[in-house]
Amino acid sequence: MSRETEQKEFSFKKKLAFTVQEPHRDHNHSHDEAGCHGHSCGREQEHLHDGQEAAAAIEPNERLRSYRIEGMDCGSCAMTIENHLRMHPSVKQVRIQFATGKMQIEHDNSVEEIVKEVGKAGYRASLITSRVSADSAEADRRDPHKSMTVLSGVLLLFAYLGQFASVSAGFQTILYALSIVIGGYKPARSAFYAIKSKSLDMNVLMTVAALGAACIGEWLEGAAVVWLFAFGNMLQNMSMERTRGSIRSLMSAAPAEAWVKQDGRLARRPIDEVAIGSLIVVKPGEKIPLDGIVAEGQSGVNQAPITGESVPVDKSPGDPVYAGTINESGALEIRVTKRAEDTTIARIVHLVEEAQEKKAPAQAFVDRFAAVYTPVVFGLAMLVMIVPPLLDGAWSVWIYRGLELLVIACPCALVISTPVAIVSAIGSAARNGVLIKGGASLEKAGRITAVAFDKTGTLTTGKPRVVQTVVWESGEKELLSIARTIEDRSKHPIAAAIIREAAERNAPLLAGTNYSHFVGKGAGATIDGVDYFAGNVKLFQELRVGDGPWLSQAADLQTSGHTLVLIGTQDRLLGMFAVADTIRESTVTAIRGLKGVGVRQAVLLTGDNEGTARKIAKEAGIDEYVSELLPEQKVSSIVQLQERGERVAMVGDGINDAPALATADLGIAMGGAGTDTAMETADIVLMADHLEKLPYTVRISRQAMIIIKQNVWFSLIVKFAALLLIFPGWLTLWMAVLSDTGAALLVILNSMRLLGTRNYGIESISDK
Ligand code: ADP
Ligand code: MG
Repeated sequence: MSRETEQKEFSFKKKLAFTVQEPHRDHNHSHDEAGCHGHSCGREQEHLHDGQEAAAAIEPNERLRSYRIEGMDCGSCAMTIENHLRMHPSVKQVRIQFATGKMQIEHDNSVEEIVKEVGKAGYRASLITSRVSADSAEADRRDPHKSMTVLSGVLLLFAYLGQFASVSAGFQTILYALSIVIGGYKPARSAFYAIKSKSLDMNVLMTVAALGAACIGEWLEGAAVVWLFAFGNMLQNMSMERTRGSIRSLMSAAPAEAWVKQDGRLARRPIDEVAIGSLIVVKPGEKIPLDGIVAEGQSGVNQAPITGESVPVDKSPGDPVYAGTINESGALEIRVTKRAEDTTIARIVHLVEEAQEKKAPAQAFVDRFAAVYTPVVFGLAMLVMIVPPLLDGAWSVWIYRGLELLVIACPCALVISTPVAIVSAIGSAARNGVLIKGGASLEKAGRITAVAFDKTGTLTTGKPRVVQTVVWESGEKELLSIARTIEDRSKHPIAAAIIREAAERNAPLLAGTNYSHFVGKGAGATIDGVDYFAGNVKLFQELRVGDGPWLSQAADLQTSGHTLVLIGTQDRLLGMFAVADTIRESTVTAIRGLKGVGVRQAVLLTGDNEGTARKIAKEAGIDEYVSELLPEQKVSSIVQLQERGERVAMVGDGINDAPALATADLGIAMGGAGTDTAMETADIVLMADHLEKLPYTVRISRQAMIIIKQNVWFSLIVKFAALLLIFPGWLTLWMAVLSDTGAALLVILNSMRLLGTRNYGIESISDK
């Protein structure tokens, strides 16, 4: 039996490993499609597979570098730079994302050359070497385009007012022309590089529109187009910087230097130079620079940068502490356990950045639409400018309409409608201690109708205690020693309870061999040539120990809500332990909060006995429970829920619930700060070791989905309204530009509402 169970467990692990790798599956072929996330004007896009998260656009390798790009004020700029760089012979691959303002690039030439190339197209690039330097470099930079935009606006205003003050028409035209040149310099330069790299982006369309307007003598219109475009872009740029900054505040959470204790003296060292095992000292009020274990001292630590909660957590020797958290009350000596680049906060930042780069399925539609829309409207504009005037000779009227169509051909607002909302939501969640691993996970979380919970360690504290010992054969100490030996290799919380009990009662560890593990049932070991087992009733029924008085005694303890660990051999029982685990305080409020955000069903899935399941479910306020489940039966319980039409999230500690987490529509792991695997494998990770942020997670995901829908519809409706207004001649060029940049700005501002979503759920409940 043992081999069979173990094999099952192994195959589940394989399944999990496969699921984990899935998002990276098609790097190669989605390259072009995801690279075209800006205005994909005129370029064919490859289609996304429905419902599947797009892979990162580029082949990740160690030669890839990250740059921060500044001055991108609209989705199309990203594509212009990308196309420009792609034509460069030293550039192997490149991807720029507008929403995060970052470029990933593989190149053979120098960093300066890349910065120069980007500069040519009108943007600023800076290599992100270490988090600290990238941040400080940024602070003292001012955008020169802002003053150009202001100047251009002033000239435009003077020229316009000039018509009321009998200024000569010639002088007015000069002012308009100046306004166009000053405000239009940047887009025109970008347009030049866009055309050179054969892309038809927003800058090209706007430049052509402004030049066209000037050519047909519509100077006011031309200047208005240029200024509105520049001004709209400036506002977009400013608001996007705020969105991008939301995650940057996390990056700068950890200090750059640490006080290292060496030979009784303290030395200040950059964190990169502090080796694992070093002793560092953190004074009260300082931030902890590296992950480690408290070696000496006691303090309250504010872990908000990681878990999103600012209530100080007590730390004493042996407790883990995390880089970026704030030591509030006492001095701490910490034994470093992670290198600077592997700390929990560094990994959170890394995962969040990765998540923000991933495309959500919702974006596939938008990209597909934009890929068709822009060339079609562009073609239409060309036709309108040429065909009707050939018939009626009204050249300037039709050229004007054609120019309007050119402006309307930019799907700017539409293209950024989804990614900006996703970046905002993921960034905001990260600051609240919730790691959402990409747009697809966010979408799924927004649609969840049922949540299934693991019991031990999830709803309960996961620190069960032995509350009763029953001995049938042998002495109590001997029983404890055998139990301790069997459980020695087990990672189950129950095993920890037994080991603790045995240690407290001085029952020694014996020499064991052949350690085995029966998932959802128990464990075993050979001691002095005899096979011993520790586990639940199910385990011993399978061993065919036979019914006896033990069965009724066990049943009694179970109905009163205890978990039993029976100890015995193939043919006789020696004794048993009743173990009890307490529910976490936050569980009750979290479940109530979930109902509050509209989750219909909460279900407890446990391997434990019926009595315990009923007791915990009742205490937690959970409507439904299923007990005595093996891991694979947890999987089928989830499938059953899905068959009932529920979209199911599974919450577990990620230790023995991996298959269930993988089967559910959404896998949520908790206690991410402690366990590395949970952080890597789940769709969503609650960094704190409890459920408090669960209602918030569902809430922000729902809100993100609503905002994305609003953005998409709003941008589509504005575009079509503008299109319809052209032909009766009601639309003016400046209105067309306003509808485009204005809509894009509103889309950004709407998405930024997500940055303010706070942790509802628990606070609102405990307040009253
Ligand atoms: P859950 O996490 O829902 O409690 P598990 O599958 O982890 O479910 O465990 C199910 C049951 O299997 C436990 O309640 C316990 O009775 C038994 N069990 C699992 N591992 C051990 C172990 N190492 N020692 C004793 N009993 C165990
Ligand atoms: Mg478990």
